Amino acid sequence: MEKCDVAIVGGGIAGLSVAKFLAEKGISFILLEEHNDFFKKPCGEGVIQKTMGYDFYELYGSKKGVEKEVWETIIYTSYGKISVEMPVVMTDKRAVEAELARQAKKGGEIRMGEKVKEIKDGILLPQQIKPKIIIGADGVFSIVRRYAGIKKPKCGMAVEAYSNEVDLDNEKCHVIMRKDVVKYGYAWYFPKKDKWNIGVGSLKKKYFKEGFEKFKKKNPGKEWRGAFVPLDKPLKSYGKNAILIGDAAAHVLATLGAGITTSMIVANIAASHIEKWAKNDYRNIEATLFEKEWRKTLGKYLKYSYYVKTLFFDVVKSEYLRHKLLAKMCRDTTNYYRKIMKK
Ligand SMILES: Cc1cc2nc3c(=O)[nH]c(=O)nc-3n(C[C@H](O)[C@H](O)[C@H](O)COP(=O)(O)OP(=O)(O)OC[C@H]3O[C@@H](n4cnc5c(N)ncnc54)[C@H](O)[C@@H]3O)c2cc1C
Repeated sequence: MEKCDVAIVGGGIAGLSVAKFLAEKGISFILLEEHNDFFKKPCGEGVIQKTMGYDFYELYGSKKGVEKEVWETIIYTSYGKISVEMPVVMTDKRAVEAELARQAKKGGEIRMGEKVKEIKDGILLPQQIKPKIIIGADGVFSIVRRYAGIKKPKCGMAVEAYSNEVDLDNEKCHVIMRKDVVKYGYAWYFPKKDKWNIGVGSLKKKYFKEGFEKFKKKNPGKEWRGAFVPLDKPLKSYGKNAILIGDAAAHVLATLGAGITTSMIVANIAASHIEKWAKNDYRNIEATLFEKEWRKTLGKYLKYSYYVKTLFFDVVKSEYLRHKLLAKMCRDTTNYYRKIMKK
């Protein structure tokens, strides 16, 4: 049996971020990632730069993998175009995850190709590792969440692919929110350095399939990658000697399906609590304080996003009213970001 202080299950954005923050605080960890490479979970690779006072660049501490900075997104509805101004950093997510791993390795151990299959009496199996604290950063189907006795979040589905054949302004992100494209969701065209990340997602499986078929026909010959996205209110994030971050606890903006910046913020908060717990050798793990702090920082914002999603897709049925509602939200968002970015 191998003993350690902190074990992180999952080497996506959430797991690698918490590993990096722990490394910066001199706290050792073992991170177990089932794949042998990074960026195995598909993603649109667009990062919201500013969220609730946090800045992606400050959290990330690097510019590696940053491909483009986009200020404006155009949303196409059946009733016209809506512009929203918001700083989005287009990344090469594989490079970002590799860079986070590089920074994290200074303080702990990253073991690739290690799938945790079971957690029994606090022991990770088959690795036979007994940590004092387990961090579940293992995504939407989290095994750590199951161990902690927490229910699964409601999920949507999305696919993405790369394309070189998009005839749109590549200094902007483009989002299509039209029933005839996909119901209960949206399609996106996000510009990268020399290509596009394109994709489509929906809250509902049936409409996702329908939307994807149409999108595939419109964009033939691509290598599609799909996955589930938690589109729920954030979950309770602790149980037994485990805490959860990222998709595992639905730290995702449900209106957009965006979870990169929010995962990094919770990872940052988690590391500062773990630092305190380390001081008395993890004898007094006050996970409720961790939960309280991330909820204070992000809880309202995540819940608001969930309720807007519900209002938008489940309550307002008229596409015209949705257009009007969206236009109002985009104006507010633009004003907010103009103010904080002093544009
Ligand atoms: C198609 C799509 C497009 C998206 N686009 C965007 C976007 O543009 N911007 C944005 O902000 N968000 C986007 N999201 C959401 C975003 O990708 C996630 O919220 C974010 O990546 C969550 O990171 P995570 O580390 O929590 O989870 P994941 O990225 O899922 O990482 C979990 C990791 O844990 C590993 N793992 C799982 N189980 C085990 C186990 N038992 N043992 C060991 N390892 C394990 C997995 O292999 C994986 O590497 C998108 C999601 C999808 C599906």
